[in-house]
Amino acid sequence: MVESRNRKGMVLSPPHGHKPAANAILDMTQPRPTVTRFAPSPTGYLHLGHAYSALFTWEQALSGQMLLRIEDIDTSRCKPAFDTAILEDLAWLGLEWEQPVRRQSEHFDEYARALKQLEDRGVLYPCFCSRRQIRAEIKKSATAPHPPAPGEEGPLYPGTCRRLVDSERHRRRESGDAFALRLDSAKAMEMTGPLIWSDAEKGDVKATLDRLGDVVLARKETPASYHLAVTLDDHLQGVSLVTRGDDLFQSTHVHRVLQALLGLDTPRYHHHRLLTGGDGQRFAKRDQSQTIRSLREAGKTADEVRAMVGYGDGDTP
Ligand SMILES: [Zn+2]
Repeated sequence: MVESRNRKGMVLSPPHGHKPAANAILDMTQPRPTVTRFAPSPTGYLHLGHAYSALFTWEQALSGQMLLRIEDIDTSRCKPAFDTAILEDLAWLGLEWEQPVRRQSEHFDEYARALKQLEDRGVLYPCFCSRRQIRAEIKKSATAPHPPAPGEEGPLYPGTCRRLVDSERHRRRESGDAFALRLDSAKAMEMTGPLIWSDAEKGDVKATLDRLGDVVLARKETPASYHLAVTLDDHLQGVSLVTRGDDLFQSTHVHRVLQALLGLDTPRYHHHRLLTGGDGQRFAKRDQSQTIRSLREAGKTADEVRAMVGYGDGDTP
């Protein structure tokens, strides 16, 4: 068993050491132990930002369980070698997690079922626009678009295909045109009514899709979007506390709406600050000098790397 130390230097039992035995009688008057998850994508080596996020998650799960989920729905960008490296680097940092590890690429059938449920509820529509067409459409529209929300790929989708008539949708699908499935955000919100979700730092937050608009929930090459997959995963894995970076704060609005539409549990959320390097820029996968792996190869100990992100002995983040 790998020993893990908390930031005061005490050796701690790993989170799963607190799991009640399977035959224990549950005391319903006690709050259920926290179940958190760390969910990296195997598109590169983990960097210091990931180390911080993983340790943050682990700390939140000290009296509960920490799960590990490999977010590899984008099979064109994810590599098995990075998947292996994630497990090695986290273990080297002294972290432990529950088994089995969930890999999204093994659950496409579950995402497809959820997508079908949403389609049956009438809240999806096919979008045939290319990225270039979307940019052109925004340019010619009179109203200035919102700047993209942090963590989002581009500006708000202007809703072009939402206005297509059924016969046109049918014709284009039949003719084999590539399309994505988008959430009709206005219709979805009308269906769910007002929704609240809870963030550890911001308190109760009223769900709104104004910032992200009609998000893509599936594409031909990626049959489930990040939004759909993580919302379903967190429910299926019994996650009670979602910890992740501030860059995904806006996404949680979408996830709350999907939970309501699909009848899923709503976990609590804790969006944490994003760790930045000496230059004030956040760590990114392309910055290979600050990967956990490269630091280890340069002779740093796990203690030293933990200390670099505020989880060293005696540190107070
Ligand atoms: Zn479109």
